[in-house]
Amino acid sequence: MDKAEHSGKLFIISGPSGAGKGTICKRLIEETKVQLSVSMTTRGPRPGEIDGVSYYFTTKEEFRKEIENGGFLEYAEVYGNFYGTPKEKVLEKLEQGIDVVLEIDIQGALNVKTVYPEGIFIFILPPSMAELRKRITGRGSETQEAIDLRLSQTLKEVSYIDKYDYCVVNGELEEAVARVKAIVVAEHSRVSRNIYKLIEKYKEEV
Ligand code: ADP
Ligand code: 5GP
Repeated sequence: MDKAEHSGKLFIISGPSGAGKGTICKRLIEETKVQLSVSMTTRGPRPGEIDGVSYYFTTKEEFRKEIENGGFLEYAEVYGNFYGTPKEKVLEKLEQGIDVVLEIDIQGALNVKTVYPEGIFIFILPPSMAELRKRITGRGSETQEAIDLRLSQTLKEVSYIDKYDYCVVNGELEEAVARVKAIVVAEHSRVSRNIYKLIEKYKEEV
């Protein structure tokens, strides 16, 4: 992968289940030009989830074939189901200069870091464990067993926070969304190749 040619930025958002990643990503794509990468999963759709919009829902067999074809930028088994990021779709967008956000689990994020280290890694934290439990239960999308499994993973997941570039505590939603949007803006202000092109142009003008 010649990453130097990609002008879009890749943002990776992860954090414990129920922390608010999905909610924040939805706001990010509604309110900025960042586009969401739709993942493939073997998990069944929840009420209201649309194939091709929320996820590409598939079988374990099809998922395995996609792994063999090298079709994923990363994939992982999360809470007993498989999830993967379609590689071509993401790279095409980056090449077109479009920013992309991946909302993926921590193992997946660490895998992206090895193949795409210039990604920008953002960790979303809940304000407390009590609030996390309340949110994940309140969402009403998982069985009690699935909720307990997700909550039991939280402390282990949080221990990977030092691999991330930024962390945002999602206490008050508006504040958290503003912080994530600020990260996107800040990353576009980094000194990069594009700046050198601008400086070359100044020289022609002098
Ligand atoms: P994740 O994608 O991290 O699993 P969700 O975005 O689905 O989490 O959020 C879990 C639940 O918490 C949802 O019902 C969502 O509406 C709610 N939620 C998200 N952010 C906040 C917040 N800042 N304050 C209160 N509730 C929130
Ligand atoms: P959910 O079942 O709640 O939609 O997602 C469960 C977990 O899988 C969340 O932590 C979510 O971020 C993660 N996830 C969603 N898509 C992907 C993906 O493509 N790759 C990886 N590694 N994790 C994903």
